[in-house]
Amino acid sequence: MSKLPHIGTTIFTIMSQLANEHGAINLSQGFPNFPVDTQLTDILKNIASDNVHQYAPMGGYPPLQIKIAELVNRQYHRIIHPSDEVLITAGATQAIFAIIQAMVNTNEEVVILDPSYDCYEPPIILTGAKPVRIQLDGSFMPDWQRINDAVNERTRMIIINNPHNPSGRIWTENDFLQLEILLDKYPQLLVLSDEVYEYITFELKHISVNTREKIRSRSIIVSSFGKTFHITGWKVGYIVAPIALMIEIKKVHQFLVFCVNSVAQVALSQYLDKVDVAQLGAFYQDKRDLFRRLISTSRFELLPSEGSYFQVASYAHISDESDVEFTKRLVIEHGVASIPMSVFNASGKDQKLIRFCFAKDTETLTNAAKRLCEI
Ligand code: PMP
Ligand code: GLN
Repeated sequence: MSKLPHIGTTIFTIMSQLANEHGAINLSQGFPNFPVDTQLTDILKNIASDNVHQYAPMGGYPPLQIKIAELVNRQYHRIIHPSDEVLITAGATQAIFAIIQAMVNTNEEVVILDPSYDCYEPPIILTGAKPVRIQLDGSFMPDWQRINDAVNERTRMIIINNPHNPSGRIWTENDFLQLEILLDKYPQLLVLSDEVYEYITFELKHISVNTREKIRSRSIIVSSFGKTFHITGWKVGYIVAPIALMIEIKKVHQFLVFCVNSVAQVALSQYLDKVDVAQLGAFYQDKRDLFRRLISTSRFELLPSEGSYFQVASYAHISDESDVEFTKRLVIEHGVASIPMSVFNASGKDQKLIRFCFAKDTETLTNAAKRLCEI
């Protein structure tokens, strides 16, 4: 009997395949299509013949852990212990799997805020716990009444994702105050904070759980170099968590992967000396602004994009089709791939919204926009 009967191929794989089959411009799966920084590829070339090819230590390559602790201190003024409180993972996906396996017990509940990224629910189900999927409000911000109604003594964890995939919204100060009140009320409750788009915010500033003294002692924060350095294929990310939680997470991590790609870790430890993550927001803001401007004359209606590299658009003025049908037709008839938002909702709620990824070069965005404006 299947342990995950309702899990199929992810929408990202389906839409990217469909885009390839039809030669469409792929704004579906979230990945950059421009070259990575040559400083990083130069480092890779330089270390290729060094002694960097054997197992890294289980928790991570120590110089990389140190560089991450320095980064967290620089960005968020949080002092963490590099080897006790940083764990290098095979991307955020493996981090999230290990965290849930380590921290959540059978029959406990985990709150997920929908629309939600797809890798949260399967590890909860595999651990015999119960995912409790709560809809965000109409503008994709936390609905604290609904969240408070859902949390109870059995709720072990709430998963938050800020900046948010798929909506591109970011949490406000008030959202964190509400979370603090919730944590005060439920001493068993932990926070898994998925902050993979932490450096991709625009007009508004990202508030990291790293900066929230009341929350961080009960939080596990997940970051991804894939997003921050345009290297999604490297699959390297990291966890920041207090030592008591980290001890348990490492027990799972060491049998899930034992350790993470050694070459990538050495390269990243050197690259972190050369790169300024603070520039990432402006870099993507230019892309967001370009894409929004280019499709402003189309019949799509654009929702706010405050962070991440996603732009959500309504096609309600164009078609009555379901979002899944519409995105398929968009690929086949118009040559642009996007992601239907309903697949991120447990309820399947369809609001005639689709997600575009704008982590693309200018030519790709321009050509895609031209096609979208013709619809
Ligand atoms: N969380 C969110 C919100 C994401 O968008 C992604 C993107 N892939 C991940 C986690 C997984 O990141 P990684 O590729 O580092 O596993
Ligand atoms: N995070 C990427 C997105 O939201 C997809 C990653 C994947 O294909 N699993 O598009």
